[in-house]
Amino acid sequence: MPRIIQAIRGMNDILPDQIDLWEFFEQTVRDWMAGYGYRNIRMPILEQTDLFVRSIGAVTDIVEKEMYSFLDNLNGDSLTLRPEGTASCVRAVLEHNLLYTGPQRLYYSGPMFRHERPQKGRYRQFHQVGAEALGYAGPDIDAELIAMCAELWRKLGISDVRLEIGTLGSTESRALHRARLIRYLERHLGKLDEDARRRLHSNPLRILDSKNSEMREIIDGAPQLLDDLDEDSLAHFEELQRILRNQGLDFEINPRLVRGLDYYNRTVFEWITGKLGAQGTICAGGRYDGLVEQIGGKAASACGFAMGVERVLALMIECGNDIPRAVPDAYVIHQGEAADGLAWKTVRHLRDRGLNAILHCGGGNFKAQMKKADASGARFAVIIGDDEAQAGEISIKPLREAAEQVRVGLAEAAILLKRT
Ligand code: ATP
Ligand code: MG
Repeated sequence: MPRIIQAIRGMNDILPDQIDLWEFFEQTVRDWMAGYGYRNIRMPILEQTDLFVRSIGAVTDIVEKEMYSFLDNLNGDSLTLRPEGTASCVRAVLEHNLLYTGPQRLYYSGPMFRHERPQKGRYRQFHQVGAEALGYAGPDIDAELIAMCAELWRKLGISDVRLEIGTLGSTESRALHRARLIRYLERHLGKLDEDARRRLHSNPLRILDSKNSEMREIIDGAPQLLDDLDEDSLAHFEELQRILRNQGLDFEINPRLVRGLDYYNRTVFEWITGKLGAQGTICAGGRYDGLVEQIGGKAASACGFAMGVERVLALMIECGNDIPRAVPDAYVIHQGEAADGLAWKTVRHLRDRGLNAILHCGGGNFKAQMKKADASGARFAVIIGDDEAQAGEISIKPLREAAEQVRVGLAEAAILLKRT
């Protein structure tokens, strides 16, 4: 027998038993985004490798070690499975001139790919929902994006999630800070790990994002960007805080929030839960005013976030938010040629009235069919035999409660089966 082929490590199947939760989440997201005027955009899953190198930054975890990149056999192009959505979204906006008509509120969702060590909450194919507000310069949109998330957590029944915010300032203030940081890190060269030493001069800020616990002490003692902040960025940051407070949104300022991507400036934020262990960040975002220009467009402000869907769903479960399985309304069992015709007619009649009806397929006697009806989870079995066919009626048997079986005409059946 040939060996059973398995899925790629870190890439998950989403099975029917999990799908009610996913679909509840997806529907909630659609309604929620529409409520704020964010419109859906769908980009390809493959892009030119260069797009991510230029936007995320060459000296980052993602680009250095997590990207699925390969050469296109047919023309030698270097392609990459998208590790995130922002770069693709901005690329699409530029390519189609969407900013020409004014600012844009957009959102996307779908699978992302990163070659990481698979563990709970960290996969090689995972899903993100992301929002991008392009062409808005002020802190009001930053605040809206954050407030939106808080609203979604409420809709999903999620609690135990806290908000951390920070600011990365302007390019100039980061340059100032960078120089100070390098001087500090050079004084502690002996305590830096290999990654940190390599990044010391190319991307020292990224060192503060290290997940190596042995670097904790060094990172905690490092100079803070907040002290080097330029006036405009400080004003932006303070206004953001004012709006958040006005909206009753609690937050902590985390001066160490750097984020794993290079394109951020000014506002950065993360939503973090204590309920998911080490992979506690369920959503992260911030401002990236330089990105549009960096990938070839006319400079435009931008701010957004991306949430990890698997982590959000895991948190929903942790919070006891059980989404009931969607069950069929009716399972129609039938025997004999005349019954067969009436069975087809019945399921169509019920479906036309918005009910979900499964037509038994595969034959078998009534007893065997009844077992299938029960296993399907359906609320009712509809039974059609010779008697029923002759009378042009159907028998309805409640499967989930102790109630009598009744025999009715089709018109009455739809009323009886209506979901309450
Ligand atoms: P982390 O610090 O956990 O590696 P990140 O900074 O790399 O996260 P982002 O690029 O900001 O993550 O992505 C936004 C969100 O997507 C994260 O907060 C997380 O919820 C989710 N996410 C990122 N990588 C993965 C992954 N490999 N598997 C599952 N979810 C992920
Ligand atoms: Mg990461």
